[in-house]
Amino acid sequence: MAKQQFLHIRTERIHQQGLDIEEVLSKEMLTELLYEPSRELVWSCVQDGQLKANILPDGNTYRLDGDIDVTLTTPCVRCLNDVVVQLSAKLHMHLMPGVEPSLVDLELDESDDLDEDLRADEPDVGYFQNGVVKLDLIVREQLFLDLPIFPTCEDSGFADNRVCEFTSVMLGPTKDAVWPDPVKEKLAALRKEMV
Ligand SMILES: [Zn+2]
Repeated sequence: MAKQQFLHIRTERIHQQGLDIEEVLSKEMLTELLYEPSRELVWSCVQDGQLKANILPDGNTYRLDGDIDVTLTTPCVRCLNDVVVQLSAKLHMHLMPGVEPSLVDLELDESDDLDEDLRADEPDVGYFQNGVVKLDLIVREQLFLDLPIFPTCEDSGFADNRVCEFTSVMLGPTKDAVWPDPVKEKLAALRKEMV
């Protein structure tokens, strides 16, 4: 039970001067938080991360600002080697009373990028419900928004500038190999007909 309540902030704890939150995001907690039922994106956590945030009352709503620092790993979508991504994500959000973020909201948000330029500086909108801010879900949503959708070796924070192995594997046969050229083949066929 205690684990489930982690990062669930009761709004009664948020006083007029605001509430500072500083928490270690354990490897286990982050890996669980980023678990995605469809398994299309499999991120796991390399080391403990950190969350620093401040929630400030604003009428009946709240302002949430914060930083999330995590180091995550997932297979490269091309060569399947591990990609390690060090991510510093920013929270800049207006929390309104309403429904909690869910996978459905996440998908809607991602498809809704047409007016992204217009609202670049605007705070995102998040929700709290029944007097509880579910910061874990907000962190999850922000991480998925900021993580690469198709992670490759180029996203990796490895210091050795490792080359994606897909490149060397898929460069194909040596230069002696002859690739059929559809245009030239058609021309050759035409020429045959004309002769
Ligand atoms: Zn790769």
